[in-house]
Amino acid sequence: MIKVNLIALIHAKPGARETVVLDTSSIIVDDLDLGYLKGTLHFTRVAYGILVEGTLDAQVKTECTRCLTPFYQPVVIELEDTISLPGADLTPERPVRIAEDGWIDLSPLIRENAWVAVPVKPICSPDCQGICPDCGGNINLGECTCDKTTAIDPRWSALQALLETPG
Ligand SMILES: [Zn+2]
Ligand SMILES: [Zn+2]
Repeated sequence: MIKVNLIALIHAKPGARETVVLDTSSIIVDDLDLGYLKGTLHFTRVAYGILVEGTLDAQVKTECTRCLTPFYQPVVIELEDTISLPGADLTPERPVRIAEDGWIDLSPLIRENAWVAVPVKPICSPDCQGICPDCGGNINLGECTCDKTTAIDPRWSALQALLETPG
């Protein structure tokens, strides 16, 4: 749950604004595991709801597509959504509603926009060496146990030919 209270905006005139600073660490929202979440959100009362706008810096736990190791991917989450007023129906376009007592759970908006911000093929580090195709070991961690010397360097093949010559 990522909750803010904006009770004053329910009864405010369109155009009224409030700013909320988020700075949290380690939150889990369904399938979303955030290492941290920080930034500033601006809430503006509009005719039929509350507009939320802002940019949040976060880390989303995901898996490296090269070495399959879980890691926290830094992302920038852009929010620009409308929050419904108390009593309004929730729809896929408007999944968030402010309660009578002013509380808003921003989780559905943050979750959706966070996953959009994660790259299609996340990589734990630009120089990640991935998994060995032969043994499946993580090369970054030195888990590959393959004996690479069986592949003969072309520079040595002449020498090997010599050694194999009888006599
Ligand atoms: Zn990796
Ligand atoms: Zn290997």
